Amino acid sequence: MPSSRKVKKKPTKASAKASKILRITYATLRITPEDDLAYDHAVEQVRARLGGHFAMYVNGEKWVGTGEEIPHTSPINTDITVSHFPKGTRDDANAAVDAAQEAYTKWSDIPYKERLKPLRRAADIIVERRYELSAWMAFEVGKNRAESLAEVNEAAELIRYYCDQIEVNRGFLRQLESPGPGQETVSVLRPYGVWAVIAPWNFPLALSTGMTAGAMVTGNTVVFKPSSESPVLGYELTRAYAKAGIPPGVFNLVTGPGATVGAELQESDDVDGMIFTGSKPVGIGLYHNFAKDYPKPVITEMGGKNPAIVTSKADIDQAAEGVVRAAFGFGGQKCSACSRVYVEQKVKEKFTTALKDYTKKLVKVGDPIEKETFLGPVINKGAVETYEQAAADARNGGGTFLYGGNQVKGDGFENGYFVEPAIVDNLPLTHRLFKDELFVPFLVVGTVGSLDEALELSNDSEYGLCAGIYSKDKRELETFFDRVEAGVTYANRRAGATTGAWPGINSFGGWKGSGSTGKSGLGPYYVQQFMREQSRWIVNK
Ligand code: NAD
Repeated sequence: MPSSRKVKKKPTKASAKASKILRITYATLRITPEDDLAYDHAVEQVRARLGGHFAMYVNGEKWVGTGEEIPHTSPINTDITVSHFPKGTRDDANAAVDAAQEAYTKWSDIPYKERLKPLRRAADIIVERRYELSAWMAFEVGKNRAESLAEVNEAAELIRYYCDQIEVNRGFLRQLESPGPGQETVSVLRPYGVWAVIAPWNFPLALSTGMTAGAMVTGNTVVFKPSSESPVLGYELTRAYAKAGIPPGVFNLVTGPGATVGAELQESDDVDGMIFTGSKPVGIGLYHNFAKDYPKPVITEMGGKNPAIVTSKADIDQAAEGVVRAAFGFGGQKCSACSRVYVEQKVKEKFTTALKDYTKKLVKVGDPIEKETFLGPVINKGAVETYEQAAADARNGGGTFLYGGNQVKGDGFENGYFVEPAIVDNLPLTHRLFKDELFVPFLVVGTVGSLDEALELSNDSEYGLCAGIYSKDKRELETFFDRVEAGVTYANRRAGATTGAWPGINSFGGWKGSGSTGKSGLGPYYVQQFMREQSRWIVNK
């Protein structure tokens, strides 16, 4: 668990209660009958609020902008309008940046122990509202109940972990060696100013919370732009921060297209730092364009094409379950999803048989609100098209479908974006489906002669996010860890071959085209990235 237990000598009543409640993680996905009841109740409450009109939030107040709105429909059923949000403009983005600039000096001057208080309160509020937030997540992005509850839990844990990091490091102020009598030197990490935070839709609460909390715990102020696929979760996070007492201007929400609101944040001279999580093309654009006249910090966390390796020394049952869970959890729409597996020839047949069995047994497709559903819809029409194109390319490229490959039609599925989990074998190992991030439930299986070959193929990728291996041979595991080019690695994990990061337990960040800083989110080197060092030399006499 995060070091909060060690650091906080006297936890608040609320957080002690909250940490007792919280047991659902991506590894356990354990839900109690009480959770089910509360979730079902929350779904009905949220259902009554669907289709509402929401506002942006600037300088502690609702901000409507031009009045133009974007409706968002549910991927479960496009007849359901989830929300209407303002179509923010460049002017709205600038108003939010002005507010964040105005609030910066006061916020950064607050002693860090005081600054952490409203953030920890926000974590407690998120936990208190976990069922309602999970229900919104189902309607808005189609995430199933266990994964939604785990994500809400992760969001709260992220805030707590980052707060703990500030305390563990005593506000990042360190006395250095004295240069001489009557003199002292100090190193202090200080915030930059205004950070733009641009988030994707697939972890609409946890990633937004992690990035914004990282910026705020370190004394920066924030302009936050959620994805247009998940603005309600962005709005609900805003409400939690406001209720927790984050002062006006410290956190601002602007909704709207990446091409205008996002672009303005990227181009503004008044934005001092940029943090982005999303696709590689957009992230690389930001990375190159953000700092024009002088260097400014830019953190971009991007996509993945995450391999799993199954050697002849693997526990095949464990490997098959781990790969299925990582490939089809949230419909392959995780940056950490396993989308290619390299299996040694000797165990290939046994492995693919188990892979099919586990897919059949675990991956029930359906409405994500229903308790039994593992695989809800993919996010939008574009994702269905990506899936269809991949299926066509697999067929044309000589691939064999071991499982799925089609849209799901019929009762209850007519107006949603439902597809079968797909597993393809026999494609050439150079095929684009071994290279391109698809972000849909689509797994390709490659047959290899050795671990060396599997590693070479794993590393032959523009991405370097997650990788997993199944082998009972310690030397094979060492070779894997030493040579695989990935920021997040796993061995013999049944709960997920390439998935399962958790604050303070398993940090998460990419190498190569998957991430720009080499420092991971959820881990001990994260919050430092939002600060710069000031070295102080004081002569006291
Ligand atoms: P995306 O790149 O399409 O959008 C991400 C955000 O960028 C959205 O808010 C979008 O509006 C904004 N945006 C788009 N164009 C912009 C522009 N020109 N300027 C500024 N902002 C712009 O990604 P997505 O579809 O929301 O998310 C899926 C992607 O995110 C996948 O590639 C996935 O692997 C990646 N991802 C990575 C991580 C990680 O930690 N590495 C985590 C989650 C998702």
